[in-house]
Amino acid sequence: MNCIFCKIINKEINSEIVYENNNFIIIKDINPEAKVHLLAIPKKHVINLFEADSNTLEVVSEIFSYVSKNAEKLGLNNGFRVTINNGKDANQTVNHLHVHFL
Ligand code: 5GP
Ligand code: ZN
Repeated sequence: MNCIFCKIINKEINSEIVYENNNFIIIKDINPEAKVHLLAIPKKHVINLFEADSNTLEVVSEIFSYVSKNAEKLGLNNGFRVTINNGKDANQTVNHLHVHFL
């Protein structure tokens, strides 16, 4: 599949990996819009929330839990902004569900 984030997950494309487990990966955004700009990406290829089933939503929940519990380690302990650009009208550019933490 010609998906940049699947290729990152499969290590076919390099990225700065911050954390990884069986369900999701956290990388540094290649074009950061803040001092800290991370992308948390569920490993299963799902385009966006319109396509997300309950398993993927559980992974999104796991991401929020992980990032909140590890905010200090991630450099987000003074607060952070969360964004999901969901679909065409939100200018989603990579069609693999991901959460921005800034
Ligand atoms: P969105 O789809 O939410 O609008 O944005 C996709 C995000 O992925 C952008 O912030 C962009 O900088 C980032 N991005 C796109 N390609 C790559 C890549 O190959 N590596 C990394 N680390 N980030 C990427
Ligand atoms: Zn993908």
